[in-house]
Amino acid sequence: MQTDNKNTGIATKCVHSGEITNNQGSPHTPIYNSTTFTFSTTNDLLDVIDGRKPGSLYTRYGMNLSIKGLEEKMAQLEHAEAALVFSSGIAAEAATFLALGRKGIVCVGDAYGGTIELLNIQLRSLGIPVHFLLEPEEQQLENILQSGIGLVFFETPTNPSIKIYDIPAISALAKKYNTPVAIDNTFATPINQNPLLLGADIVVHSATKYLGGHSDITAGAVMGSKDLIAQIVPWRKNLGQMPAPETASLLSRSIKSLVVRVQYQNNSALRIATTLEKHPKVKRVLYPGLPSFSGYELAKKQMKGFGGMMTIEIDGGYEETMKFADSLKIFRIAPSLGGAESLCTQPVTTTHHGLPEEELQIRGITPSMIRLSIGLEDTDDLIADLNQALQRI
Ligand SMILES: *Cc1c(COP(=O)(O)O)cnc(C)c1O
Repeated sequence: MQTDNKNTGIATKCVHSGEITNNQGSPHTPIYNSTTFTFSTTNDLLDVIDGRKPGSLYTRYGMNLSIKGLEEKMAQLEHAEAALVFSSGIAAEAATFLALGRKGIVCVGDAYGGTIELLNIQLRSLGIPVHFLLEPEEQQLENILQSGIGLVFFETPTNPSIKIYDIPAISALAKKYNTPVAIDNTFATPINQNPLLLGADIVVHSATKYLGGHSDITAGAVMGSKDLIAQIVPWRKNLGQMPAPETASLLSRSIKSLVVRVQYQNNSALRIATTLEKHPKVKRVLYPGLPSFSGYELAKKQMKGFGGMMTIEIDGGYEETMKFADSLKIFRIAPSLGGAESLCTQPVTTTHHGLPEEELQIRGITPSMIRLSIGLEDTDDLIADLNQALQRI
């Protein structure tokens, strides 16, 4: 039995959707760690292979209840007809790009470093046309759509400059040209933003971040209509991008607490951003929930919460900013985000390390920037930690 929670709130969905609970009274799906599933007769096997009966068959195909249950939960979180789980966020993006973007992909705004590398090097090497539209070139989107491409892709908020892109406006423009829109919703999470309800066609997630939430799972997901998801299925299957059932089970477990974690992180981040904004050694705080932030009005329109990610600019150069990061005691230096542990990273030393000066300028990235991922510690402790590190520069 699988619980039907289509009409419940999102917290109930996080806990109960997709859980298969007919096993000895277990409140969640057991781990089906089998690679293959057996049949009593050849006809039973053929019924499953030909789709006449639902059933498990082979784990790499996704025909395993630990994976199917997680996908049902994920689909409901993003108000999607269907979802696919992957071995990483970049695996989810790669399969989506290859399935839907072979006629060409346009990436609007800045994106995760790995995504840019995949688009710029691997996909271009296959002959797939790739366009990057960085500010102020976004106006050219319609020209590119007119020339005929396969997929529009973007992040919002973006990494690391937290820029907000207008999901309904870009989706409406792409719809005019029958081009699907895929959004990387990793930073916002399904709790703070639901791109499919705002007009987008596909959502991708690095579940390694907030969905996993404890810095111990590498996984990804894609959500969308049955038709679009069906086009991605064979790519996932034959590129072999399936997570282990143990990982899928751990991810289902983590999603049960997603609402509690994200709401706590939203509240904590807003208080921290408001406090830092007044600090004399902080030049700028980029956070969608601050009325002083350029993307605030748009964020308020399309987000339900402002998230746990912010970027601050220190009043100092590269050395002072490094000293600030090195002086933090609770925040750890690491390139990831979305976990229980607060993390910080200086984009010029990690996500954007080694990019030429003019490329950094186009992307609006300076050596004084620090990206903060607010974890689940006491907000007062985090503020005290940031204050003592700021005093050292
Ligand atoms: C981390 C990240 C990815 C890649 O996810 P992996 O799980 O590391 O493969 C993609 N997009 C964004 C926004 C990310 O933060």
